[in-house]
Amino acid sequence: MQFIDLATQQKRIRQKLEKNIMAVLDHGKYIMGPEVAQLEQRLAEYVGVKHAIGCSSGTDALLMALMAHGVGPGDAIFTTPFTFIATAEVIGLLGATPVFVDIDPDTFNINPDLIEKAITAVKNNDPSIYPLPPTNGIELKARGIIPVDLFGLPADYDSINAIAKEHGLFVVEDAAQSFGAEYKGRKACSLANIACTSFFPAKPLGCYGDGGMCFTDNDELADLMNSVKIHGKGTHKYDNARIGINGRLDALQAAILNAKFDIFPEEVELRDKVALQYNQLIEDSECDLVSPQTMEGYRSVWAQYSLLAKDENHRATLQDKLKNEGIPSAIYYPKPLHMQTAFESLAYKPSNFPVSQDFSRRIFSLPMHPYLEKAQQEEIVQTLKSVMAKSERSL
Ligand SMILES: *Cc1c(COP(=O)(O)O)cnc(C)c1O
Repeated sequence: MQFIDLATQQKRIRQKLEKNIMAVLDHGKYIMGPEVAQLEQRLAEYVGVKHAIGCSSGTDALLMALMAHGVGPGDAIFTTPFTFIATAEVIGLLGATPVFVDIDPDTFNINPDLIEKAITAVKNNDPSIYPLPPTNGIELKARGIIPVDLFGLPADYDSINAIAKEHGLFVVEDAAQSFGAEYKGRKACSLANIACTSFFPAKPLGCYGDGGMCFTDNDELADLMNSVKIHGKGTHKYDNARIGINGRLDALQAAILNAKFDIFPEEVELRDKVALQYNQLIEDSECDLVSPQTMEGYRSVWAQYSLLAKDENHRATLQDKLKNEGIPSAIYYPKPLHMQTAFESLAYKPSNFPVSQDFSRRIFSLPMHPYLEKAQQEEIVQTLKSVMAKSERSL
């Protein structure tokens, strides 16, 4: 069994993929070929925003978004410690300071009530209000928020955008996992000043290498990101108006994405069906597991289907059992970012973000992709259930 089955999808669209790839080989415009603009236009329309800017990865998309906002040393950027390293890495790369804010236990996403507290803590330079990194004499300036739509479920943008507006902050949506999701009738990637997604192969819409995209309705931010992405170009290629990066999306990857996007809306439906079947099977099995819930108005794209075990030992037992049955599982994320060596200088304590700390010990993810069959899901849940039965017998 595959954790993410990309082969079945490829089989479905193999002809279209080959046709699109051959077209690039024929025209030879490998950099900024017509496939890139075509993809940008299609995805902008799907998401419902004015500008889509293809780029080299989800990480570079986040970097470009922060550079467009002029982020630098002394800036505090609020984000979650329960995410992939890239979210906070780009903050550090620009010399700014990540200020972590714990997650909501029901959604795994940044907790808006705690953002409010963290902003107040930064503004008053008072870590007794909320845990803060050491400021080393420089006063931090609250600049922006990066919520992450973890596992494909959008964060609570109405609350987050209201807080940002009140305090004059920008919001960058880390939608690396949520392209295709919905929040109160709007699509993920349209929920903040700028949204950033990733086309890493394992994401809901993935290419066959690295790729990403920024989305915005703001003309000025779009111009800035288009400049940053091509070495800070000004009026022409050899006029450099600012420091930028080499952040373009390959024409070949865009060609592949154009083929994949044709069936993407259908795959979103299939993912939802698979997730709901998991929820039902797990509920019926009466396993001692917390399954993911989606509240009214939210629609996840299920980049991951993640469960909470009772504790670390329970999780280890479950994962061992799955492995013995040839069923892959994974842990996202075993170490929250505030505990990573890379962020040692922020001097956070493990207990500063108790929900993230607790969940990193209990969470695990099951195989999830649009082509997972009901019989396979039954086998997976049956295997989880057998662990419970055994541990109960041993009591
Ligand atoms: C995958 C991911 C990224 C980075 O995307 P890449 O395309 O791999 O650079 C950023 N944030 C989150 C939450 C991710 O899952």
